[in-house]
Amino acid sequence: MQKYIDEAESVLLHTYNRYPIVFDHGDGVYLYDIEGKKYLDFVAGISVFAFGYNNKEYNDALKNQIDKIIHTSNYYYNVPAIEAAKKLTKVAQMERVFFTNSGAEAVEGAIKAARKYAYLKDGSTDHEIIAMEHSFHGRTMGALSVTGNPKYREAFGPGIGNIKFAVMNDLESVKAQITDKTCAIMFETIQGEGGIHPATEEFLRGVRKICDEKDILLILDEIQCGMGRSGYMFAWQKYNVKPDIMTVAKALGCGIPIGAFLLTERVAQKSLVAGDHGTTYGGNPLATAAADKVLELFEETNIIENVKEVGAYLYEELDKLAASNENIVAHRGQGLIQGLEFNQPVGDIINKALAKGLVLINAGTHIIRFVPALIVTKEDIDEMISILRTCL
Ligand SMILES: *Cc1c(COP(=O)(O)O)cnc(C)c1O
Repeated sequence: MQKYIDEAESVLLHTYNRYPIVFDHGDGVYLYDIEGKKYLDFVAGISVFAFGYNNKEYNDALKNQIDKIIHTSNYYYNVPAIEAAKKLTKVAQMERVFFTNSGAEAVEGAIKAARKYAYLKDGSTDHEIIAMEHSFHGRTMGALSVTGNPKYREAFGPGIGNIKFAVMNDLESVKAQITDKTCAIMFETIQGEGGIHPATEEFLRGVRKICDEKDILLILDEIQCGMGRSGYMFAWQKYNVKPDIMTVAKALGCGIPIGAFLLTERVAQKSLVAGDHGTTYGGNPLATAAADKVLELFEETNIIENVKEVGAYLYEELDKLAASNENIVAHRGQGLIQGLEFNQPVGDIINKALAKGLVLINAGTHIIRFVPALIVTKEDIDEMISILRTCL
């Protein structure tokens, strides 16, 4: 592997401190490196491979689509996009969707849609968006501007203007940032990168109420916590506090790059129109064939029931682990998006786990996040916990 690693470091822009592994292929919840070593994977490409690696039905759907057509311009219709849109709007309980190539682009579209909605009301171009501290919405300039981590933003200023930050789960801090210019309040229903912090029911309801009273749009970013991972198709459905705009990506394509932003009909009628937004690749037949198959697998399997059941089991097991280790200071999350917070950086633990054939990932320096494929079993969890124990 070292030969490849050296080559990679001589040509790829060094924007990642990568772990010294070259993966070759995957099967179910297992990954294999190019030297044949097997790893139990609790990362799933960061919340992406919902149905595990090498799912035959999914692979066949892609192969079939490749032999038909991979790309057409968005100036024409294509059947996979229509099928995927019907399924996604149904499970999202929202009426309109725009397909993008990534999560960050979905966030860009959500911001544009919210600004356009406000612009059509009063014609002014200085509307404000309230985002949350410790949030993560992506690396493009707009998405970065609403990302509540100064470390990611600092060198790249100025970002897009008129962004304010409030404290997640602190309604008063949101109220303190509201002005006549506020057009949207946005947050992740469960903060992922920021350390697995779920929005409380009270916070969700409180923000929704403010939005309704002042005609402000609620944007929920479900890119990481959505698509069944929380034990609900979308995490807000646990409390039925519906956003006006929602962003989705990661598991939507299960590895094929595709994201989406969705709008309710009410907002869509007063927002982006022809000419306002576009993308060359977004929603192309190959990407939407992937999303369509993924959504079909959600319809046809009881995967969300599995998430609820094994998620509860993971919760119990991580609780036990936390109780037995004084360096673990908190345990948060639900379903198959959970995190253990340590009183020290977790890099060493993750390296030890990798050496022992377990793939884990951090969320911030002190938190190990658990976002395995949604098909993971209790036996896989037992195996993960027993390896992790030996690394602590
Ligand atoms: C990963 C992520 C993004 C960015 O998605 P990309 O596909 O990497 O651009 C945005 N929001 C959340 C919550 C994410 O987890």
